[in-house]
Amino acid sequence: MPMGCLRSVSAATMATFVELSTKAKMPIVGLGTWQSSLDQVKEAVKAAIDAGYRHIDCAYVYKNENEIGEAIQEKIQEKAVKREDLFIVSKSGNGLFPTDDKGNILAGKSTFLDAWEVMEELVDQGLVKALGVSNFNHVQIERLLSKPGLKHKPVTNQVECHPYLTQEKLIQYCHSKGITVTAYSPLGSPERPNVNPEDPVVLQIPKIKEIAAKHKKTAAQVLIRFHVQRNVAVIPKSVTPSRIQENIQVFDFQLSDEEMATILSLNRNWRACVLRAASHIEDFPFHMEY
Ligand code: NDP
Repeated sequence: MPMGCLRSVSAATMATFVELSTKAKMPIVGLGTWQSSLDQVKEAVKAAIDAGYRHIDCAYVYKNENEIGEAIQEKIQEKAVKREDLFIVSKSGNGLFPTDDKGNILAGKSTFLDAWEVMEELVDQGLVKALGVSNFNHVQIERLLSKPGLKHKPVTNQVECHPYLTQEKLIQYCHSKGITVTAYSPLGSPERPNVNPEDPVVLQIPKIKEIAAKHKKTAAQVLIRFHVQRNVAVIPKSVTPSRIQENIQVFDFQLSDEEMATILSLNRNWRACVLRAASHIEDFPFHMEY
């Protein structure tokens, strides 16, 4: 899914950034907003801005961008934040995932390379600052990078990442191409649709809890800090003000090399977000290792 980053950020607000190939700085911790309900998302975004978040992850398909926009506007009006200090990510897709009568997602007629050309025009018109991709495997990135006449390279690949899906090869590949990685579902997406009671629960991994206790931090904070130390941006979702604050308090402790290695060793290539209804589509990204 191609996505556009609407604005870059100034250095004043967040402790740490990931530098994009455009030289813009993306705050390394952002707020996720998938499944943030219409009656909660506005307060959540305002609480996040008050807590120091300057990166908000949005998407047309989350159906709450208007409310997020209102929250941002209110915070700007009350001078809590300047627009130029905010890094807003949005994602476009083929409408709202149209399906056939069996619930299978229908493939669009255009390819992601066609979509990219349209997105490039948005950059040229000054409507977005940079372009990224989401859920791309390394072959798809390779196809995009070798597209004849490519005008704007993707600045980030937003993919699921947590201790049960550590994405080492994909991250290494992206970084080698000057593409940052953004980790979605960093807490294992406990409220995703179709959750299977037998699925592992990332927030309950005993090793993570053990490491958290050692640092007097929460499991969520360790799961988030894990990305920060890999220079990977991370976008935990919450609509709970206390958790929103908790999730950005990750710049006052350091995981040791040994702890990082322990977390990486938990990998089992398990995905919380699989989108099985699209697995028949030619460009389904998860059929290959990375
Ligand atoms: P996360 O892994 O961020 O988990 C969110 C869940 O964890 C919510 O139920 C939240 O509850 C709970 N939670 C948040 N903080 C804590 C905490 N400190 N302690 C305990 N529980 C906590 O899941 P998401 O799948 O939402 O991923 C994050 C974001 O990534 C999305 O919101 C979206 O922006 C993006 N995303 C992108 C995708 C893509 O295809 N590009 C796919 C999936 C996600 P509560 O809100 O009630 O506090």
